[in-house]
Amino acid sequence: MFTSLTEKLHEVFKKLKSKGKLTEEDVNAALKEVRVALLEADVNFKVVKDFVARVRERAVGQEILANLNPAHQVIKIVREELTALMGGQDARLNTAAKPPTVIMMVGLQGSGKTTTAAKLSLFLKKQGRRPLLVAADIYRPAAIKQLQVLGEQIQVPVFSREGDPVAIAVGAVEEAGKKGYDPVIIDTAGRLHINEELMTELERLKAAVKPHEILLVVDAMTGQDAVRVAETFHQRLGLDGVVLTKLDGDTRGGAALSIRAVTGCPIKFAGVGEKLDMLELFHPDRMADRILG
Ligand code: GDP
Repeated sequence: MFTSLTEKLHEVFKKLKSKGKLTEEDVNAALKEVRVALLEADVNFKVVKDFVARVRERAVGQEILANLNPAHQVIKIVREELTALMGGQDARLNTAAKPPTVIMMVGLQGSGKTTTAAKLSLFLKKQGRRPLLVAADIYRPAAIKQLQVLGEQIQVPVFSREGDPVAIAVGAVEEAGKKGYDPVIIDTAGRLHINEELMTELERLKAAVKPHEILLVVDAMTGQDAVRVAETFHQRLGLDGVVLTKLDGDTRGGAALSIRAVTGCPIKFAGVGEKLDMLELFHPDRMADRILG
């Protein structure tokens, strides 16, 4: 994950550490290299600009440069600002005051939405919850079948029936209320690209079931495309959180480092493999540590 970015930052900080005392020019030169490394990792241009400005403002002060170990202080500031960029605090799922909590999973085809719906069910089941998965992608029979197969693997019931996605989702919430399932996790339809038909359907679903949590699933490998997808979904639906999938692949880092800053939506989970137990809570501080290596 982020190997190229990590290597480049390592180089920058190695140089900085070898200098001992630091001047303002040293810090500026290092930050120039940090800027290039972030841009090459496909981090949003404006996010990079603001990030570098914040680090510079904090690092180019008397206290830091007069410190016995100034390079260390600069790295510490970078670590803190990377953490802040990804949301600072860990973000939690919303829960309903009165169960069941309804979670709506949205995203483009291929992002990992169906797999993530199953992973999230398993994650919550392990916490003692009784999730119900809902197959609301009626346009792709294969998607319904896929969810049923995954549900069987993790022993989570899958609600599916003929009809309109809104009727299916409303029926599922009713069923959950009767049988004590909580949460209800709705796997909505995806498309290859964002289109009006998809957005309208998701808006109708949202209005009908009033989800407590709308989670967008995006593929971290797609960099700034993932950020644009998140912006559009957030404008139309008002997202509560993002799940970044495929962080086990060699993603450059652009999506992880831009999404929160561009959209304001917290990243709540990270997909780190194809297996169903490979979903982790997203911890901005640990991610910053990983990036810095
Ligand atoms: P959907 O079309 O959005 O529902 O996507 P799927 O759930 O069918 O996933 C598409 C592909 O991505 C499948 O082959 C999944 O196994 C894979 N996938 C999903 N999440 C992850 C992840 O975190 N890591 C990796 N390596 N593969 C993933």
